[in-house]
Amino acid sequence: MEQSAHTTMGLSASSEPTLRVMSLHALAYCERLFYLEEVEGIRVADAALLDGCRVHEELDGGELASYTLEAPLLGLRGRVDAVRCRDGQLMPVEVKKGRAAPAQPGGDPDGGGDGKTAWSPDRIQLGAYALLLEEALGVRIDEGRVRYLADQVTVRVPIDDALRQQVHAHIARARALRLQVVRPPVTDNERLCVRCSLAPVCLPEEERLARDPEHQPVRLFPPHPDRLVLHVLESGTHVGRKGDQLAVRPREGGETLYPIRRVGAVVIHGYAQISTQALRLCCDHDVMVQWMTPTGQVMGSLVAGGDSPQRHLRQFRALEDGQVRLHLARLLVASKIDAQLHFLLRGSRGASRSEEMKRAVEGVRQAARQVPEAADVEQLLGLEGSAAAAYFEGLALLLRPDLDERLRFARRSRRPAADRVNTLLNYGYGMLYRECLAAIQAVGLHPGVGFYHRPRSSALPLALDLMELFRVPLVDMAVVAALNRDTFDADADFEERGGQVWLTDDGRQKAIEVFERRKRDEWKHSVVGYSLCYARMIELEVRLLEKEWSGEGKLFARFRLR
Ligand code: SF4
Repeated sequence: MEQSAHTTMGLSASSEPTLRVMSLHALAYCERLFYLEEVEGIRVADAALLDGCRVHEELDGGELASYTLEAPLLGLRGRVDAVRCRDGQLMPVEVKKGRAAPAQPGGDPDGGGDGKTAWSPDRIQLGAYALLLEEALGVRIDEGRVRYLADQVTVRVPIDDALRQQVHAHIARARALRLQVVRPPVTDNERLCVRCSLAPVCLPEEERLARDPEHQPVRLFPPHPDRLVLHVLESGTHVGRKGDQLAVRPREGGETLYPIRRVGAVVIHGYAQISTQALRLCCDHDVMVQWMTPTGQVMGSLVAGGDSPQRHLRQFRALEDGQVRLHLARLLVASKIDAQLHFLLRGSRGASRSEEMKRAVEGVRQAARQVPEAADVEQLLGLEGSAAAAYFEGLALLLRPDLDERLRFARRSRRPAADRVNTLLNYGYGMLYRECLAAIQAVGLHPGVGFYHRPRSSALPLALDLMELFRVPLVDMAVVAALNRDTFDADADFEERGGQVWLTDDGRQKAIEVFERRKRDEWKHSVVGYSLCYARMIELEVRLLEKEWSGEGKLFARFRLR
C-alpha cells in the first residue's frame, strides 16, 4: 500500500524543482548517469528496472508499505520502500534486488554481520530518505536498513553526521549539475559501466576507443532492437487500445493484439486510423508514431516526452561553425562514396568485370580521391553528384541481364519515378528517411539542423544527412538483391498511372518486408569491432555524431563496408 505523507508541490523552498532521492543514488554511482537521467531526461526501462518495480509491488502487497514524501526545505522528494518503528524510533528501509557490498577487512562497524555492508550509493539514498522523513514528519532518525534480497541480508546504516554531510554535498552537486549544458565525462571506473542501464546511450566504451585506438571495447550496445516496428498498411484498419496492448483491426474483421512493451514504433501508411487512447498508450511507453504517404514519404511524427534543451543547445552551437560542418560533411561523403565503390566492386568481382563497369568504378574512384581536399560543401555536393552518376551506371550492370525488361534500370529518376526500379529505390529511401528521423528523434537531436543538406523542402536536413551513410547498404543492395532473386512481379507489384510507376498494395508490402529484413541483417562495425544489425547501427551513428560536438568524437561515419 502506498501512502502520501506530504502534499506534492514539486518545488523546493528555493523555487527550484525538488530532486528525486533516486537521482542522488544515480549521482553517487556516476555523475554522468545523474546528468543523463535527471538533466537530459533519458530513461531506459530495462529488465533490471522492471524487476525493481516488481520487487516493490511484491513488498507493497505483503509486509511493507511505501511512503511518498516531499521536503521543500531540503529540496528532495521520493518514495521510501518502508518505514518501521522500533522502540519508538522510526527507521527507513530500502529494499534492493541485488547483493550487498563486501565489508572492509577488519569488520565494518555499520554492517549487518555476514561480512556484508551497504554500497555507497545505497547509503546516500537511505540517508536522503532519513532526512526527508525528518523534515516531512518532524522526527529524528538515527538509523536505517538496506535489505539485499539476493543475499537475504539486511544491513544496518547509522544516520550519522558524516552521512548527513554527504547527502547535503550530493544535493549541492546535483543542483550545480542541473545548471550546466556540458555532460560530465565518462567514469574512469569501467566496472560501473558494465552494470549501467544507460550504457547504450552513454557509449562509454566507444569514448574510450576514441581516446585510445588500442582500447578493445566491450560490447555494451545491444545488437538488435528489442521492440518491433508495427506497420499498419491497409486503408480502413483501426488501431485501438485494449489495456496495455495495441489492438489492430483490419476493415474485413479480426483483431491482432500487440503488447505495448513489444512495440518500438507504429507506422501508419495511407488511410489507417489510430485512436486517441492508442496514441496516449504509445506516449506513455515512448513509442513513436509516424504517418507515411502511399509513396513512402513521411508526413509527420508523434514523439513522446520532452526534448532536451541541453542536447539541442550543444548541437546548435557546434553546427553554427562552418569548419565543423565541413569536417562532418567530408566524413559523410567519403563514407557514402566508399560504400558505392565497395558495392560495384563486390558485385562485379574477377576478370569478368565489363569495360562499362570499369568505367563506372573509375568514375566513383576519381570523386573519392578529391573528397578529403574539398574546400567547401558546394564542392562536396559536386563530387557526390559525379560519383552518383558513375555509380548508377554501374548499378544498372549489377542487375541480372535476363530479368523482365520492365525490371531493369536505365537512369536514376527521383519523383516521379520513371520505372519500376526507381519506384523501389524511392520507396526504400522514404523508409530509410523515416528510420533516420526516428533515430534522430529518439536520441534527442533536432532533425531540422544538419551540416550537409540545406533546408530546401519539408524534408529535415539532419535526417537527409544521416541517410547518406545508409543508402547503399540498406536500400540499394537490398533492392538489387531482391530484384535478382525475383522477389518482385512486374505486373502484380506495380501499376503505371499518370506517367509514373506506383507500387500496388502487394508491392508495397513486399518492399517493406525487404527493407525490414535488411534492417535485421547483422554486420560487423569496422570501427567499434562488434556486430550489430543495421537498425541499431543507424542509432549508433546518431549517438557517435552527437559525440563529435561533445568533445568525445572521432568515430562518426568512419565505418566501411567490407
Ligand atoms: S555507462 Fe558508465 S560513464 Fe556512462 S553513465 Fe553509466 S556508469 Fe556513467
